[in-house]
Amino acid sequence: MHVAIVTVGDELLVGDTVNTNATWLCDRLSERGVRVRRVTVVPDEIGEIARVVNEYHAEYDAVIVTGGLGPTHDDVTMEAVAAAFGRDVVRNDRAATWLADRGYSADDLAAETTHLPTDCRPLENIEGVAPGAVVESVYVLPGVPAEMKAMFETIADEFEGTPTHTVAVNVAEPESELLDRFTELQQRFDVAVGSYPGEHVTVKITADDASEAERAAAWLRDRSTAPERS
Ligand code: ATP
Ligand code: MG
Repeated sequence: MHVAIVTVGDELLVGDTVNTNATWLCDRLSERGVRVRRVTVVPDEIGEIARVVNEYHAEYDAVIVTGGLGPTHDDVTMEAVAAAFGRDVVRNDRAATWLADRGYSADDLAAETTHLPTDCRPLENIEGVAPGAVVESVYVLPGVPAEMKAMFETIADEFEGTPTHTVAVNVAEPESELLDRFTELQQRFDVAVGSYPGEHVTVKITADDASEAERAAAWLRDRSTAPERS
């Protein structure tokens, strides 16, 4: 399953907020074997959000959009997702009932709080107020991290793929000297190789099959210098 993530918010684009939602979602989705193919940050603008959602909906199996759900003037995500599908935003009875059951009367909330795209599947916000929604394969979640995480867990089962296996090998040699070995690794084994330089180079070897990843890691260990143990 291939998925795109769209995080919405001007505050992300000016560096006021660190995009921890994207990292968290990438982690959870990868853990489930889902391939995240795009992470995009867009401003709080209907046209920009709708354009990206429309493009990614055509390209990927699912799209997760987070941020900009509240009823304030800068929260336009629901309207944008509705626009991407040519739908209206209308009062959603189930969302209104959830909030009424939690003790919120219509007078407490801006009307738009319960307004969602027509024919969507509403998602209850158990940690907050603004509901999320699923429109076809586009999942719209809140921006507040605790709310986003709780809502994602209620739909996590809808995201699945083939989990991969990764083995890390630490090497005490400059990355530039490892290039030929990386090429050979990929020729000899059915693996993907990632190289992360730091104090030493961490080589991450990923395969669909755990034993293939282990064999490739053993091959590299036999041909490289390990960091000294402290
Ligand atoms: P609310 O109903 O509170 O307005 P919302 O769904 O509209 O919630 P936003 O207004 O986009 O969400 O963001 C609310 C807060 O959540 C932001 O002030 C920010 O601190 C945090 N937030 C938003 N997006 C992200 C993100 N991608 N990563 C981390 N934090 C985020
Ligand atoms: Mg908001």
